[in-house]
Amino acid sequence: MYSFANMAAGSPLQINASFDVINPSTLQPAGSAPLASVSDLERAVAAAKAAFPAWSALTDGQRQAYCHQIADKLEAHHEELAAILTSEQGKPMGGTGSMFEIGGAIAWARYNASLEVPVEVLQDDDNGRIEMHRKPIGVVGSITPWNWPVMIAIWHIIPAIRTGNTVVNKPSPFTPLATLRMIELMNEVLPAGVVNSITGDNDIGAAISSHADIGKIVFTGSTPTGQKIMSSAAEGLKRLTLELGGNDAGIVLPDCDAKAIAAGLFWGAFINNGQTCAALKRLYVHDSIYDAVCEELTAFAASVKVGDGFAEGMELGPIQNRMQFDKVNQLVRGSIEAGGKVLCGGPVDDANTLFFPITLIATSSATDPLIHQEQFGPALPIIRYSDIDEVIRQANDNPNGLGGSVWTNDVEQFRAIASQLECGSVWRNKHGAIQPNAPFGGVKCSGVGVEFGQEGLLANTNIQVVYL
Ligand code: NAD
Repeated sequence: MYSFANMAAGSPLQINASFDVINPSTLQPAGSAPLASVSDLERAVAAAKAAFPAWSALTDGQRQAYCHQIADKLEAHHEELAAILTSEQGKPMGGTGSMFEIGGAIAWARYNASLEVPVEVLQDDDNGRIEMHRKPIGVVGSITPWNWPVMIAIWHIIPAIRTGNTVVNKPSPFTPLATLRMIELMNEVLPAGVVNSITGDNDIGAAISSHADIGKIVFTGSTPTGQKIMSSAAEGLKRLTLELGGNDAGIVLPDCDAKAIAAGLFWGAFINNGQTCAALKRLYVHDSIYDAVCEELTAFAASVKVGDGFAEGMELGPIQNRMQFDKVNQLVRGSIEAGGKVLCGGPVDDANTLFFPITLIATSSATDPLIHQEQFGPALPIIRYSDIDEVIRQANDNPNGLGGSVWTNDVEQFRAIASQLECGSVWRNKHGAIQPNAPFGGVKCSGVGVEFGQEGLLANTNIQVVYL
């Protein structure tokens, strides 16, 4: 049973109340986390505010060195953090599970540590010199979800502190443990108060998003919560980075070899059991290879090992929580009612498990809810198309716009289709392959702003123009 403290000003906060964190594989408690009150949040925010002047006054090089030390710390605790993560999130230790997630967190930390925050000279002539400086915003409130909790916390925290801000992070109540441990470890290397943590109910998140001493919110989670955050952040005109839901379309063109693309399509959709913002969530396949792709994907799905994340060789775990499980189940039932044909898997009647079978559904109905709503779980609708313009229209016919993919060997055709897709990232012959050096974010209801790359780093700063 894991139990970790909330950290404020470099020390554990004394909080007597706690809540259980459930292991979704066993449905038994994995540990417990502090149930903080809004007055505990005040202490965390006050600690971050007090740490800001000294932290923001450091040189870039000093903060780069601290970020590298954090990466070293995470590396030294790689396996420990992965085990905590598997016990609360359910994902397997191996494959693209917990060891992979902690490895990603380390890679992102190192990449951000390596970036520069240059002063840009806008003009330098007889009429004068104008410089553009980047200044930290102040205290950044970071609110994280339960699907990739550690990696997403790193995406929020490292660029914020790298540019001179201090942070209060609130993990999802479903998966707070590995993040709390990680923030304990960060506090072994950072000055007190630079990174603070707080765990509790959703009301703590709401209190963060309206807090007068927080200058920016970086949030990853659902679109409805993002909308609430945006409206409560309005009063103080907080800076916002919102990474929200997606319903990414993948379009398979007729020149593809069904067998050759099956593994890429499968993992594009089912990485982390489909609980990934930029996973492939609607698959459109050309009529001429539709049956072959369905057959190859079904055969591939049968070879994937699903089970307790600590068991040897598992590739996928359970759905992380009951609410999400019920949502996936309901969408699968809705798809069948709309005429979808189950190729494998299907709805689950057992209320005593969070394991959901890998589900593929051949469907074409315009009213199929599995096509139009984000499932965020292991169920993929496969839709037949014959006209490319019509399929582009269908791909764009969704409020979300996070990612998209086109599967073809024809690069020119890929470019032509990519330019028409309404989404923040487009991949060819893969899906969801994000990188620390490439800005990532959504258009339409999938978000505001970007993370990663120089653009993501600078989103944690205000511009100050200096006229010399
Ligand atoms: P969620 O919105 O329910 O919760 C996310 C976080 O917000 C949690 O920490 C939660 O406690 C907190 N929260 C809840 N209510 C709040 C409020 N009123 N004010 C402030 N904070 C509040 O999302 P989730 O269920 O944890 O995550 C799943 C969703 O997140 C999916 O829709 C998925 O697509 C999206 N997501 C998006 C990305 C991305 O990068 N675009 C990444 C991961 C997940």
